[in-house]
Amino acid sequence: MFQQKKGNLMIAACLGILLFGSICSAEKIRVVTTSSDLADMVKVVGSDKVEVVSLCSGVQDMHSVEPKPSMVIKLKAANLVVKVGMDLDMWVDGLIDAARNPSIRYGAKGYVDASVGIERLEVPKGKIDASMGDIHLYGNPHYQTDPTNAIPITKNILEGLCRIAPKEGEYFKHNRDEYLKKLEERMVIWDREMEKFKGSNIVTYHNSCPYLAMRFGLNVVGHVEPKPGIPPSPAYLASLINLMKEKKVKVILVEPYFPLKGCEMVAKKTGAKVLIFPTSVGGVKEVRTYLELFEYNINQLVKALAE
Ligand SMILES: [Zn+2]
Repeated sequence: MFQQKKGNLMIAACLGILLFGSICSAEKIRVVTTSSDLADMVKVVGSDKVEVVSLCSGVQDMHSVEPKPSMVIKLKAANLVVKVGMDLDMWVDGLIDAARNPSIRYGAKGYVDASVGIERLEVPKGKIDASMGDIHLYGNPHYQTDPTNAIPITKNILEGLCRIAPKEGEYFKHNRDEYLKKLEERMVIWDREMEKFKGSNIVTYHNSCPYLAMRFGLNVVGHVEPKPGIPPSPAYLASLINLMKEKKVKVILVEPYFPLKGCEMVAKKTGAKVLIFPTSVGGVKEVRTYLELFEYNINQLVKALAE
């Protein structure tokens, strides 16, 4: 008898935990982002009201993400999707269709394009064809490399979260305001640290840093890949070496997922330094947040450019 009662109590307790658990997670807004930077900013604005997953990690090349069924499952359960936009994460559009979740479809209240309001760089003019490589029709999509773009990005996130949970609007707004204050403080320091390197010439593997360069007054004079998505030939690398010598380039920035071989060869011939340069949260283990991304990268840039 006692045994049975104990058993019933156990079942009741388990049910209670299950029920409580599902209520707790039901209260949270389920957000799926395409990038780890967006996930970090959703966590900041939504804080304990959100549950966030990113479909792409900081060590993956966002241009070529392989769609997986597990991603569709995440999107099916989502209340909000936040994408980079500008065609960088086009791969998510098919996954959103496959998820058959009307609340996150294009134009629905659970759909956020984080690029709205970004001042776009390198929007192509004139005719575009395949010989130009992997060209982005809406301009260069790597806008997260300018930390001040966190202002429009978090604005878009805030608006999306407010559409899903309007009652929490004040809470979200407060979180964003606090974050922007922190960002502003860091920007003063970063600007000061980078000030003396204004006008420095740099080379990047991929064309992923025009926004960073514009923000801190650097000149990107060339890329290790001749065109987006196209690996360099020996002849191309030889011309890059000449250019780098002429322009006195001290650093080559390369994201953790691109091949180092060509970069190292060029560095050896020119005396430049190769910096493994994460452009997203989680690109290297020290970078766990969007603010840490700039802490880390500015620190590396300052050291390398001062040498
Ligand atoms: Zn790109």
